[in-house]
Amino acid sequence: MRRHASSDLAVALVALAATVRLRGNDGERVLPIEDFFLLPGERPERETVLGDGELVVEIEVPRSAAASRSRYLKVRDRASFEFAVVSVAVALDVEDGLIRAARIAAGGVGTKPWRLPGCEASLAGARIGEAAFRQAAALAAVGARPLARNGFKIELLKRTVLRALADLGEMA
Ligand SMILES: Cc1cc2nc3c(=O)[nH]c(=O)nc-3n(C[C@H](O)[C@H](O)[C@H](O)COP(=O)(O)OP(=O)(O)OC[C@H]3O[C@@H](n4cnc5c(N)ncnc54)[C@H](O)[C@@H]3O)c2cc1C
Repeated sequence: MRRHASSDLAVALVALAATVRLRGNDGERVLPIEDFFLLPGERPERETVLGDGELVVEIEVPRSAAASRSRYLKVRDRASFEFAVVSVAVALDVEDGLIRAARIAAGGVGTKPWRLPGCEASLAGARIGEAAFRQAAALAAVGARPLARNGFKIELLKRTVLRALADLGEMA
């Protein structure tokens, strides 16, 4: 895990499966917002796929059942004007008490909004409720590699996922 935070909006848009329209000298392209952000790689100064002269001209959030059952939870050091230490956006598509699909993205744990596919897979097909939420949250940090002084984020991420899901569960 790295130190940089992702913006609040970016994390929420990833959970909501938004698309971004880019316009440049060579025309337009539309891509999932998830693919808009880059990992540092060999060009760490490039945070997005934007080319020279290219602009973001539209962001579309698709209408979906999951969007109407979604939450953004931000944990921060100060009450205002502060980036997230950890943040979590969750969106659940639920029918008759069963979770049909889940999308979960986290901020503050990587250099871009971080999807949590293990949590999503664990929730898909489960009955909405505490047991499913706990099982999913336990998987939130699988594969995470903390740096020297941010190991606390592993536990914080799991707890933030659990709380965001629990908040959503109350909407059931
Ligand atoms: C003290 C402080 C606290 C903050 N806390 C938070 C926080 O808690 N959560 C959070 O999410 N953010 C936080 N921010 C960041 C703040 O939200 C950013 O400043 C904002 O997201 C960027 O908007 P801007 O208008 O400042 O950027 P701008 O200066 O307008 O743009 C930023 C960059 O994007 C480029 N750009 C602008 N428009 C486009 C476009 N259409 N297409 C392509 N490129 C474009 C610009 O060229 C520039 O390089 C904080 C900032 C400060 C200073």
